Amino acid sequence: MYTIHCFRCEKDTSAESIVEIIQEHTDVAGRYLCSHCGSSHTSVRPVEKTSKANKEEVQKRE
Ligand SMILES: [Zn+2]
Repeated sequence: MYTIHCFRCEKDTSAESIVEIIQEHTDVAGRYLCSHCGSSHTSVRPVEKTSKANKEEVQKRE
């Protein structure tokens, strides 16, 4: 899972894969587009399917 986070409307657009984002959520210049407002002022982030990494981080602190 990936999300395109929009800095203009603060909403996230989710996609199953980076391929889906490139095929369906980019403009002619290759910029990632928000599907809510159409802004290209966005950031793409991978989304972890489990919270395992977070749990490990917590355990190190304890
Ligand atoms: Zn937006």
